[in-house]
Amino acid sequence: MFKKVCIIGCGLIGSSIARAIKKNNLASKIVSSNRSGITNKKIIKLNIADESSSNTKKIVKESDLIIIATPLSSYKEIILKIKNSLKKGTILTDVGSVKKKVISLIEKHIPKDVSWISSHPIAGTEESGPESGFAELFKNRWCILTPSRQAKDQDIKLLETFWKKIGSRVDIMNAKQHDYILSITSHVPHLIAYNIVNTTLNIKKKEDRDIVKYSAGGLRDFTRIAASDPIMWRDIFIQNSKNTSKIIDKFIENLKDLKKAIKKRDGKKLEKIFTKTKKIRKEIVKAGQDISKPDFGRK
Ligand code: NAP
Repeated sequence: MFKKVCIIGCGLIGSSIARAIKKNNLASKIVSSNRSGITNKKIIKLNIADESSSNTKKIVKESDLIIIATPLSSYKEIILKIKNSLKKGTILTDVGSVKKKVISLIEKHIPKDVSWISSHPIAGTEESGPESGFAELFKNRWCILTPSRQAKDQDIKLLETFWKKIGSRVDIMNAKQHDYILSITSHVPHLIAYNIVNTTLNIKKKEDRDIVKYSAGGLRDFTRIAASDPIMWRDIFIQNSKNTSKIIDKFIENLKDLKKAIKKRDGKKLEKIFTKTKKIRKEIVKAGQDISKPDFGRK
């Protein structure tokens, strides 16, 4: 499908893409670029890419597909490094979790003959780094494409085929829609998990109870989400500040409503809300986005 693919940032997502490319034979050569020599050596040792170097400007040359898979705050530095090394007709994509700001940032800097088509695979785990990736990560997961104004139709189709070949289902939408939807389905749920675990930590200090020892499913599930990479999530909230703030306001409103019902011992109201939310779980399982079995340790 491609002669040379370059993955800038071969961590959880980047190395999963590289592994899936290899498994499905989608490129003659895969190269990667990371800042640290240790990461680059690990990538070669694990046979994830054919070459890996911290010299991004050099290694990116002659690539037909370039995938940026680094934290959002590193995009500016990366695009300034590579902008003069991009081959005419190259497809440039990324895997970032927020779109609006990065699309215009990259559009501002790259040559007109590069097809810049942003991607967001809605797939991941709480782990980081090249060791944590696996080829099946994208299987049956949605990948949202948000093409920039300078993306060619034939390249959008090619990138869509690429994501499908590594297992994803693909949808196309604009950056505004993407950032709003993801603030509800991913960003604020992560914030809630961070806040629940943080609240637990404060109680733990004050009361010195063994909260870790007696952690029930409720807390355990939140600690998995709250163990996600701090830099990645810092960047997501900074870049999607408007949408996430709006959804947090709605969440506070609903939380106050629940608190009122608890204080008034309004069982009817609580039961009504909990019955409604139980239905969403069933819909998610029916849509193939999760399994109905309890999950005691996701990969
Ligand atoms: P990760 O596991 O921490 O990997 C990041 C990789 O990028 C590392 O290999 C790191 O290696 C490299 N890197 C960092 N800064 C760099 C720079 N300036 N130049 C070159 N390489 C650099 O992160 P991840 O979880 O794969 O996330 C990467 C991106 O995917 C983020 O933008 C995130 O929003 C998006 N995303 C994540 C998930 C998820 O669940 N994790 C899901 C969907 C999308 P060095 O430290 O050696 O440079």
